[in-house]
Amino acid sequence: MPRESNLLNKKIFHVLPLKDLVIFPHMVVPLIVGRKQSIESIELAMLDNKSIFLVAQKDSLMEDVHPKDLFRVGVVGQILQMVKLPNGLIKILVEGVARAKVSRYREKKKFIEAKLDLPPDIIDVTEEMEAKRRQLSELFKVYIKMNDEIPEEILFSFNQLEDAEKIIDFVATYLDVRIAEKQKLLERWDYEARLDHLLQLLRKENQVLTIKTDLDGRVRDEMMKSQRNFYLQEQMRIIRDELGEEDEIALEIHHLKKKIKSASMPVEIHAKAMEELQRFAKIPQLSPESNVIRTYIEWLVSVPWNKMTNDTTNINTAQKILDEDHHGLEKPKKRILEYIAVLQRVKKMQGAILCLAGPPGVGKTSLGKSIARSMGREFIRISLGGVHDEAEIRGHRRTYIGSMPGKIIQGMKKAGVKNPVFLLDEVDKLGHDYHGDPASALLEVLDPEQNKSFMDHYLEVEYSLANVMFIVTANNPYDIPDALLDRMEIIELPGYQDFEKLQIARKHLIAKQMKIHGLEKDEFKIDDESINEIIVNYTMEAGVRNLERQISKICRQAVMELLKNKRKKEIDVALKNLKKYLGEPKYPSRGLKSNGEIGVATGLAWTSYGGDILRIEVNLLKGKDKLTLTGKLGDVMQESAVIAMSYIRSRSNKYGIDPEFINKYDIHIHLPEGAVPKDGPSAGITLTTAVISALKNVAYPTDIAMTGEITLRGNILAVGGLNEKLLAAKRHGIKTIILPEENKSDIKDMEAQVYEGIELKFVKHFDQVYKIIFNNKKSA
Ligand code: ADP
Repeated sequence: MPRESNLLNKKIFHVLPLKDLVIFPHMVVPLIVGRKQSIESIELAMLDNKSIFLVAQKDSLMEDVHPKDLFRVGVVGQILQMVKLPNGLIKILVEGVARAKVSRYREKKKFIEAKLDLPPDIIDVTEEMEAKRRQLSELFKVYIKMNDEIPEEILFSFNQLEDAEKIIDFVATYLDVRIAEKQKLLERWDYEARLDHLLQLLRKENQVLTIKTDLDGRVRDEMMKSQRNFYLQEQMRIIRDELGEEDEIALEIHHLKKKIKSASMPVEIHAKAMEELQRFAKIPQLSPESNVIRTYIEWLVSVPWNKMTNDTTNINTAQKILDEDHHGLEKPKKRILEYIAVLQRVKKMQGAILCLAGPPGVGKTSLGKSIARSMGREFIRISLGGVHDEAEIRGHRRTYIGSMPGKIIQGMKKAGVKNPVFLLDEVDKLGHDYHGDPASALLEVLDPEQNKSFMDHYLEVEYSLANVMFIVTANNPYDIPDALLDRMEIIELPGYQDFEKLQIARKHLIAKQMKIHGLEKDEFKIDDESINEIIVNYTMEAGVRNLERQISKICRQAVMELLKNKRKKEIDVALKNLKKYLGEPKYPSRGLKSNGEIGVATGLAWTSYGGDILRIEVNLLKGKDKLTLTGKLGDVMQESAVIAMSYIRSRSNKYGIDPEFINKYDIHIHLPEGAVPKDGPSAGITLTTAVISALKNVAYPTDIAMTGEITLRGNILAVGGLNEKLLAAKRHGIKTIILPEENKSDIKDMEAQVYEGIELKFVKHFDQVYKIIFNNKKSA
């Protein structure tokens, strides 16, 4: 390698100490110089061939340097340009020419001189060295590409280089390593050693850069991900904006707030609602939780907190309305009016809850509705039939999916006011199981002491039921749980007689059904005979529900007929065309045969569906001391049968019965049509009579019926449900009824119409029954 300049021929050079910089040969570097010592050196150098010795100082922070502070290997440089700057600084452009080793420093007053040794001129480049050099070039290119700090453009200059020494000095210049490392590189006098050192450094650096690039990539990925999320969220926001959803949510919150404000809630409930609204605003609208809160707030605002209707104060108006809606029912109406009157005085519901008790279709529900109307109140009805879970009364907690308030709060929402008439239907059909006892929840509802602060599990806030007028209904008041029954005053609606049913149909049911079916007054007529026929032969009930259904059926067909035959202006229903509308009578065989059958007796039974007649059959079979009971007999009735047998055996002589009958016959007692379970002791005298009839082989007239409990001594005890039993007896055409003397007072309380046309025979002992039945001339 030839020397490029003769400037290296001299041996002594002015020294320019470098801070934080190592200059390699062949590099052109601009330098700003400010230290006096350095300026002196440059100025002298400018006069001396413009050559200068550039060497790094060991401590880059040191200002005033001496030879001991300088490394001993540097580069001889050629000053290409010198500019004096206004602030006393000098800017030079210097090019490294060759590395040089100081053999001796000489410190002058104002500057330092150095005597230099220069490297050998020529280097023999072996193939191996060339291979390494090429490897170095490749590695360097990779290095530049990976290193963001160094502009890739330098590769352009790099690629132009051909001289091996220039190439490796170029690499050394651009390698981003610490100054100390660079100095070491510069000090590698031997070309190959320098090449090896550089290769090693480059490999290391490339490795570091690879790791860094990888890390950068990962960091970038992370960044990208978060940027992407941000971007997507922004997009969602824009889409929502586009769809107007954001507005919708804000609008919904606004509406809910308005609803809360106008719900006139008590302060603490208002606070609760607002708190929920705040939660609602925070939660994403699509989350299920959001819906739960919305529904809850809707409930809170839709329950009446303050709204009330004004009660009608005129008791005469109330009475007029009750009379308008219902025929008869004098006693219940009177009691209801008293209740309303007291309520007007005391303003607060106190005392017992009215319980309307009676068979289906006697007007319990419609009477409740009528009470509401007569008081000018809203009416709400819920059915308790089959309710066996406390939550149905008191609601499910909000944590349940699809949870709701219980029936009470639901009813209040429907009522829309705080003081409705609230009818709890079929309280006797309440069940209970492991889900808790709804009766106890109901007790709280009905207790004026507790219902001021009724707690529904769903609503979570106290709700006052103090202004509600509760009325309950039951078919059988004896099935009402005792604790509840204790709070009630039973008002009995036992059922109607045929003549009452006719009146109800005439005054209410026909007009009602005509209206429902859109029949005008002059379009439809039905005569009394037809209505009576329906009552007697097409229905068998204590109430008037089926009667109403039959009338509805006729109305339906009347409408059809009028539409089909335009010329026809009026439908006239009479006995002769009744079958056309209703078909064959359902209960035609009610006419009782005058002569009864041997071993058959007719009793009267009470069921929750009203009264009924009870036919008891007895057969004697050859055998010994065996009693068979069939039909749906409850435990009490089975006992009655055993008592009857025992009593008859004890009185066999008196009644003319073979005392040994027990050893001759098996006795079979059967209750046909036992589908409706009948139980109770009141069949005692009927069972006894049927067995005696069989044993005496004597029949008696079928229009005699009886009811009464019998003791082992033959005494006859009082029974219940007489009202219904008498009505049933009448329906079935019974002419004579044998009943306990003890029940005489009950009969006195009844309206005479109930037993009109029936002969009542009161008995104290079975001997009297025997006398009536078997000493009768008609008995055969
Ligand atoms: P319940 O609740 O006792 O089963 P409802 O109240 O449903 O009976 O009555 C059945 C139908 O009979 C209703 O249309 C009702 O208006 C009518 N009704 C019952 N009793 C009377 C009555 N005394 N006067 C007028 N309509 C009556």
